Amino acid sequence: MTESPIIPLPDLPELGALPRKSTFAVQVGNVLVGGGRPVVVQSMTNTDTTDVKGTADQIAQLWRAGSEMVRITVNTVEAAQAVPQIAERLAMMNVDVPIIGDFHYNGHQLLTAVPECAQALAKYRINPGNVGFGKKKDTQFATLIEKAIEYGKPVRIGANWGSLDQALAQVLMDENAASANPKDAGAVLREALIRSALDSAYKAVEIGLPKDRIILSAKVSGVQELIAVYRELATRSDFALHLGLTEAGIGSKGIVASSAALAVLLQEGIGDTIRISLTPEPGQSRTAEVIVAQELLQTMGLRAFTPMVTACPGCGRTTSTFFQELAQKVQQHVRDKMPEWRITHPGAENLTLAVMGCVVNGPGESRHADIGISLPGTGEAPTAPVFENGEKTVTLRGEAIADEFVELIDRYVERRWSPQA
Ligand code: SF4
Repeated sequence: MTESPIIPLPDLPELGALPRKSTFAVQVGNVLVGGGRPVVVQSMTNTDTTDVKGTADQIAQLWRAGSEMVRITVNTVEAAQAVPQIAERLAMMNVDVPIIGDFHYNGHQLLTAVPECAQALAKYRINPGNVGFGKKKDTQFATLIEKAIEYGKPVRIGANWGSLDQALAQVLMDENAASANPKDAGAVLREALIRSALDSAYKAVEIGLPKDRIILSAKVSGVQELIAVYRELATRSDFALHLGLTEAGIGSKGIVASSAALAVLLQEGIGDTIRISLTPEPGQSRTAEVIVAQELLQTMGLRAFTPMVTACPGCGRTTSTFFQELAQKVQQHVRDKMPEWRITHPGAENLTLAVMGCVVNGPGESRHADIGISLPGTGEAPTAPVFENGEKTVTLRGEAIADEFVELIDRYVERRWSPQA
């Protein structure tokens, strides 16, 4: 028998995302976006902004779930008047999160009529496709930017496929039709979206808003289109970029589509803040979009928010649903503990956990985690070895395995991340 030749290890590619694209750092309240800072998670409320308590409660909920900025709709004078009251209520609740006002059509009037709103917001979102029509468009846009200058606030110039600047799109369509090599209509519309965002940003700079007070976005609902649009935006400017797939959809479709699009861009170093625009399922908490955004960044190794549980999918080697329940219990436990650990045990967000269903991959996967458990599969002895830092430390048995494992996790965190440690 001939032995296989020993081949030297080839040069293996480096692990990880490409370096972040350099952008201006934008101060939004107490949060810095861009300039190489960690990618910021943001979300948006779906309450009626005039419902001060309901909106403040949902902002607090999103913030507790980990949203680092929260956007609210400001669509009427009443909504604008509610903004300072919401800010006050949040301050009383010790919720310190930048609030972003989302303006369409009448933002110039609202920011002028309700100065307390202009002051209370940490950033204004302006949609260049919805600022105004005809001759009024430029003056209304200028008013919005002047208000941002007056109150020292940054803006997001957020173009959107669903409210594309039709006049600009028509000009580009006509130019394209008259050219020797016309492009397909989709490419022209993408260009219109990019130009809408960039032209508006440069117009804001001309009016006097510094570049480090501008964030750009150009959202579409198709994955490939979004990737193409943002690659262009990143190539053509140094503005900080807000990523998000608009109208991503409900349930797994929304999660998969958003993750697919954003992961490609983040891997290329593009994007300074993200929002996952999920349609909540009936009864589902609005915080789902925050959790998905965090999990996307964490599974890509870009940030750490909460300990992550590795769990096997289960198969015919285990008839028990116990490991599924345990995986869920462990994930919920660490998520619930994280707000406290963030203060008392900083670093605990990096904890890795494994909950596995049988001996095939259980011990191996558990050894790779900081702390892991391998539950008994069908026909195995009813014992569950626990591994810490790659070493088997204890074997759990009986009815209380779940509670005992959760206790072991707490003790592990205490030992490793308490300030004394
Ligand atoms: S660890 Fe065991 S139970 Fe889980 S998927 Fe693998 S073989 Fe199946």
